Amino acid sequence: MELAISQQTIARVAPLSGLDRALVYTIPEALRETIAVGTLVEIPLGRRSVLGLVVGFGAEGPMKFKLKAIEKLVYDQPVTSPDLLKLAVWMQRYYAASVESVYETLIPAKIRGGATAKEQKFLALNQDLSKEDLGILEKRAPKQFSVYVFLKESGAPVSITAIRRKFPGSEAAYRTLVKKTVLKEQFEVQEHVAYTDTLSQAEHVGTEAPILNEEQQAAATSIQESIDSAEFKVHLLHGVTGSGKTEVYLSAIQKALSVGGGVLFLVPEVALTPQTVGRIRTRLDAQGIKTVVWHSHLSEAERLDAWFSLVKGEAQVVVGARSALFAPLKDLRLIVVDEEHEPAYKQDETPRYHGRDVAVYRGMLCKATVVLGSATPSLESLYNVKARGYILNRLTKRIDDRKLPRFHVVDMKREALKHKGSDKRVISQLLKEKLQDRLEKKEQSILFINRRGYSSSMVCSECGYVAECEHCSNTLTYHRTDQVLRCHLCGSHETAPDRCPGCESPKIRWQGFGTQRIEDVVQQVVPKANVVRIDADTLSKRNRFREILSDFRTGKIDVLVGTQMIAKGLDFPNVTLVGMVDADIGMHVPDFRASERTFQLLVQVAGRAGRGDRAGEVVVQSFSPHSPPIQFARRADFEGFLEEELEQRREFNYPPFRNLIRHLFRSRNKEKVAFYSEQWIKFLEKGLKQKIEIRGPVPAPLERVKDYYRFHAWFFVGNVSKVLPEIVALRQQFKMDKEVIDVFDVDPRDLT
Ligand code: ADP
Ligand code: ZN
Ligand code: ZN
Repeated sequence: MELAISQQTIARVAPLSGLDRALVYTIPEALRETIAVGTLVEIPLGRRSVLGLVVGFGAEGPMKFKLKAIEKLVYDQPVTSPDLLKLAVWMQRYYAASVESVYETLIPAKIRGGATAKEQKFLALNQDLSKEDLGILEKRAPKQFSVYVFLKESGAPVSITAIRRKFPGSEAAYRTLVKKTVLKEQFEVQEHVAYTDTLSQAEHVGTEAPILNEEQQAAATSIQESIDSAEFKVHLLHGVTGSGKTEVYLSAIQKALSVGGGVLFLVPEVALTPQTVGRIRTRLDAQGIKTVVWHSHLSEAERLDAWFSLVKGEAQVVVGARSALFAPLKDLRLIVVDEEHEPAYKQDETPRYHGRDVAVYRGMLCKATVVLGSATPSLESLYNVKARGYILNRLTKRIDDRKLPRFHVVDMKREALKHKGSDKRVISQLLKEKLQDRLEKKEQSILFINRRGYSSSMVCSECGYVAECEHCSNTLTYHRTDQVLRCHLCGSHETAPDRCPGCESPKIRWQGFGTQRIEDVVQQVVPKANVVRIDADTLSKRNRFREILSDFRTGKIDVLVGTQMIAKGLDFPNVTLVGMVDADIGMHVPDFRASERTFQLLVQVAGRAGRGDRAGEVVVQSFSPHSPPIQFARRADFEGFLEEELEQRREFNYPPFRNLIRHLFRSRNKEKVAFYSEQWIKFLEKGLKQKIEIRGPVPAPLERVKDYYRFHAWFFVGNVSKVLPEIVALRQQFKMDKEVIDVFDVDPRDLT
């Protein structure tokens, strides 16, 4: 009986900031009914009052001192669930991440901010002032006048934070304006429209499910059986581009919903996969199923709304990028990870988790079915079919037996010999002819080049000077539209010189090429075509991506030139030609995944062609046309590629055969980072009881970024959870110099 009482009166609370363990507090009588595991509370800690999460009830053993009481609940509803709290503990251990960073990931800043919500308020114009009133205001209340004019001119709501920054001490002024109903406060910016809204109305998005073909049906049945079993199962859905994976996902979603379960659908990036997101949503909307699309453009109000509709079990489906992994869904029964091979699933700041892997772990905790889907599965997942019993479901044919596109590989060495100095070195004769042909037939083309800007470097023909960034070990890229040399690592830029800064010679050569140059050359090659470029530079403009895609769909654009970022899941039936302008970028980088990535990229990019009734063609330009990734992609030979690549990985014991942990060290002081990383590795080798293979420390491929010198060491381990805690414990004993910053990256994607 005593236990029962303490269960009701004592709560274990994990402070969100820093502390590595939960603390015990008493629960005031008034809160006992509402409090639950996952409730966000305010607790006294030292002399402050901080936010914490209730992780359990009751305490072990007798209390030696008087407990403090929980001060208040931030919300009446819990903000997270017990399985997510377990997930957080695992993430913290597996990724050697701080508790704080994990909780930050678990509970978005906007949610934890019962207190900070005020900060996010916006001010908007409520009524226009007459000229007269305005004149009076200018004389009598200049501060009110400035705020008014500012809001009027901005034409949109502005956050209070921004107003305060712009007009310090203007608080009383805008309050008065609100009182006078000239301005109004609101929690969200109305003008914002979620990316997917217009796209979901696209003509080819059906609201009714088609009849699945045989392969789709087989995959769907297999997944549905797992959902029915209510056990943890992982499926790998390997379906060639255009094979109709989305319909298989949809049938799985229906199944999960029909057994009353929640569904989590992950995409690499919401903004870049508007079609997939739109399709899922349209279909479910048509059935009256509430879908939450979780993305960074949600307003404050929408975000809170979405979160609590999940907590309360009102919404059962969440679609989003990796941060959606932590949505507090009830009775999660299905997790879909679309394009599971995408490196975008890996977060590149702490906690450096991999969205796909966390999805699998959450699935395990919830006994859910996890579906990993891709046209080009990662080697890890393919390997796990054997190693961990993932169920492999294959879609080998395109819908309606549409043919996979025909590949042409152009040897650019020959092309360069044949056409010295001309733009044929950028766009080969073959690609040129095909572009012209498509224009005549009124079909569309997409050209990919994974480099933005105009030229990749500026070289002096007299003295060999190469323009490099002052802050990074990186050459500067020439951007012709704004006439600057820009560093793609740190963003710093300078005006492009017309003479060599070294020797004053005017003989400057521009080497290599990026999206801007391709856009130019294509325009010369097919002068009548409407050519549009799309890359990170154009994407910085709001809604531009959506506009371009919509113009492309309606046929206003003939040729789309872009980086691979736009290659994700686009489905345009009128595209019959895809060009990979420089397939070699990315092939010769110091990364054991270089081959895998090139292969995946080629297959994905090719998959954008021939999705309608007409067959597609792919032109791949390369200086090493016989390299395995290009040849295997040309034949669409997955098995062959897998076999050869696994062989190589096995030989060097690379992932997936072992896990890799990268320990990265940075400092503005080059000597210190070299010395201390070396000392640490010696210390580690001496102290570590388990045997692991350590390589390095050596300078990282990008030796300097933003004035920081970088070193790294690699640990190859058989079992991360077993080894990493010991490494971390030793690291805590090691005295690192204050000027050296270090971080562990488990299962890293980025090795530069
Ligand atoms: P993937 O994601 O595998 O590349 P999609 O899911 O985009 O393929 O499907 C390709 C196209 O085929 C889409 O336009 C989709 O609507 C259509 N489709 C999928 N399944 C069927 C089916 N069973 N019958 C008819 N059309 C289908
Ligand atoms: Zn020079
Ligand atoms: Zn730089």
